[in-house]
Amino acid sequence: MDNPLLNVKHLKKYFPVARGWRKEKTFVRAVDGVDFVIRQGETLGLVGESGCGKTTVGRLILKLIEPSDGKILFEGKDLAHLDKKGIRPLRRAFQIIFQDPFASLNPRMTVSEIVGRPMEIHGLVERSQRDEKVCQLLQSVGLMKAHLSRYPHEFSGGQRQRIGIARALATEPRLIVADEPTSALDVSVQAQILNLMKQLQRELGLTYLFISHNISVIRHISDRVAVMYLGKVVEMAQKKALFQSPVHPYTKALLAAVPSLDPKRKRVEVILEGDVPSPINPPSGCRFHTRCRYVLPKCLEEDPFFHQVEGDRWVACHLYSS
Ligand code: SF4
Repeated sequence: MDNPLLNVKHLKKYFPVARGWRKEKTFVRAVDGVDFVIRQGETLGLVGESGCGKTTVGRLILKLIEPSDGKILFEGKDLAHLDKKGIRPLRRAFQIIFQDPFASLNPRMTVSEIVGRPMEIHGLVERSQRDEKVCQLLQSVGLMKAHLSRYPHEFSGGQRQRIGIARALATEPRLIVADEPTSALDVSVQAQILNLMKQLQRELGLTYLFISHNISVIRHISDRVAVMYLGKVVEMAQKKALFQSPVHPYTKALLAAVPSLDPKRKRVEVILEGDVPSPINPPSGCRFHTRCRYVLPKCLEEDPFFHQVEGDRWVACHLYSS
């Protein structure tokens, strides 16, 4: 693929768990061989059901947890193998917007401290100029100078998420991981935050990895979409292509479950049966075979390879292997 900002290769994260009275060691395979790229200035939407591993992918990219295997190439440098000292100069280049705007802001700090502290830590501003710079950032996210000395509890949910966005922008990052940034907000406020993120992307040339379980939100914000199931990416394509003609059986089922207001749209019933299997003991072969209506004999034995099938579309399914 062409010169991406971030290139994730065969990324894995296994969490050890002790089971049974003999404390036999097993692993939760939260992320089990994920590949994708994010190009400069685009938004890659990462979507899937709860527990599919999408949040773990975000935390791995930000180096909040260490990978079990694989590569995270950021502008060509492998973050996966950098120690704390090695990662320090790169820290300001990637930031996160958290899901919960209530829990992610320190209630004892003023807005000026919350947004200004990261700038000071990274040496981007002198203490004397901090409020002026914070003020500019607040205005860029729709807040005011009068908010500088206020505390998080004095704001609504939407305003708190704007403070979270201003804090993420404080270090002038090149990549922002947004982990379900609108799911704790009222529906009317969700659209405002999504539109603000798009506007900031246009103005500042930001690159986003946008993580969500909500297909409609992913459709609104993304340029390309990667669909995750049980620790793996099963399909990745340009947004329009993915929503108009999904090819992986799981993507088809996921999109068919979204209600449509269009009376002309023919609703194709693709019902996902059964629960998501346990990531401690995932099914053999294709992990989706226990719920797939197109299952082939080889799906039970062979794990399908994630490969390019046409243009910018990648898929992991035996129906599309040559
Ligand atoms: Fe279904 Fe087989 Fe494709 Fe898996 S590889 S999605 S089981 S058809």
